[in-house]
Amino acid sequence: MGGASRWWLNKSLASLAQSLEQRGNRLILRRGPAALELSHLVAETRASAVFCSRTYEPWAQALEQDLKRALDSVGVALKRYSGALLKEPEDVRTQAGEPFKVYSPFWRALAASYDAQKTLPAPDKIPAPAKFPTSDTLDSLALHPRHPDWSHGLAETWIPGEAGAHDRLSHFMASTVKDYAELRNRPDKPGTSRLSPHLHFGEISPAMCWQAARDAGHRRSGSDNGVETFLKELVWREFSYTLLVQRPDLPEVPFRPEFALFPWRRDARKLKAWQRGQTGYPIVDAGMRELWQTGSMHNRVRMITASFLIKHLLLPWQQGEAWFWDTLVDADLASNAASWQWVAGSGADAAPYFRIFNPVLQGTKFDPDGTYVRRFVPELAKLAAPDIHAPWEASDLVLKSAGVVLGKTYPKPIVDHKTAREQALTAYDDVKMSAQAAK
Ligand code: FAD
Repeated sequence: MGGASRWWLNKSLASLAQSLEQRGNRLILRRGPAALELSHLVAETRASAVFCSRTYEPWAQALEQDLKRALDSVGVALKRYSGALLKEPEDVRTQAGEPFKVYSPFWRALAASYDAQKTLPAPDKIPAPAKFPTSDTLDSLALHPRHPDWSHGLAETWIPGEAGAHDRLSHFMASTVKDYAELRNRPDKPGTSRLSPHLHFGEISPAMCWQAARDAGHRRSGSDNGVETFLKELVWREFSYTLLVQRPDLPEVPFRPEFALFPWRRDARKLKAWQRGQTGYPIVDAGMRELWQTGSMHNRVRMITASFLIKHLLLPWQQGEAWFWDTLVDADLASNAASWQWVAGSGADAAPYFRIFNPVLQGTKFDPDGTYVRRFVPELAKLAAPDIHAPWEASDLVLKSAGVVLGKTYPKPIVDHKTAREQALTAYDDVKMSAQAAK
């Protein structure tokens, strides 16, 4: 688990402990092999069954099997439910019974077959054991960052826990969703739900989001009210899990084998410039700094920054994936891997590799007034749009009056867009030729 996720988990567990206490119960924390610790806990509490949501990470299957064996041996049932997804990956199949590799038919199949059940509210009381077993303290898990504690930006941005998740969902459905189709690509506006970390940590279920979206759609029938677009995004998450279950090596290995031959570069200096938001391309730098400060980044800017790492810097997508894994509060093995592969062009149903974002055009299109860049790259704040997206093209006078000295107060671009684009396309042609030759 990355640093930002550990921060979230700490707060989320504290919130869960509080909710359980309000219902007459307690959160018990134990460290050690799950099967062993749970067997002890079952014995101590005389539990007759263990309930859990299914998980789909590659290591989860082995863990579930160990647990099942251990519980079977003492006659205790393990009951697993699909709380984390709308439908189990093995229940959404092509007509030939194969797992889907293309998103649109996957969406159609899932939307047509999904039987939305009414979700239930949390119970008022949860039966407690006669005597509470011992528990490790949350502090002893050392999830909160120390020396230094870099988490204040995260704390200002997020309220982890079930209550925070429900507040986000209600607020989004009451106001933002109606403009979602139009505004979801605008990092300068609060146009998306920001539910992803809550979904990742199981603080809210996709079933509940689906139901709330359908209810909001009924209240505002008629025009395109953003609901369908939102549900389609929710289903991208399901699609990512389908891919991960099909290919447990998705986080490391290109889905399309020809990309294994890609001539990636190794350049620690450029990687660092990208990680720190010092590439000289303002929209890229704003995104990377948003990530560092808040533990998140707008989806459009995730695509721009990922494309920049892969296609402008020719650095392996796995290096970007690893940085996102460490710094995102919503870091999710399936969605992160599938999305990085989507941008790299190596994934199932991916963006074609030759579609290379021009960071200046992306900035002027999706952050037309420069508001987003101004928020996260304050040294450019006095530049007006469109100069703020390409400061190297502004006149000396404009730069001077905005207090910008390129190469001093803000970096010059670390690569030239046109040259980088040509190199990326040449590298791709080489891959295609090597793949042909290997056939
Ligand atoms: P909304 O626009 O409100 O969408 C609603 C929900 O749909 C999201 O909360 C999320 O659960 C799901 N969703 C939306 N877009 C996608 C998508 N492309 N793929 C999968 N699910 C999606 N998302 C993660 O949850 N974890 C990750 O680690 C992650 N890494 C990413 C890496 C890259 C390079 C890219 C391009 C995208 C990544 N995404 C990841 C997908 C997406 O950027 C985030 O889910 C989204 O920005 C979360 O913001 P939101 O909750 O406001 O989304």
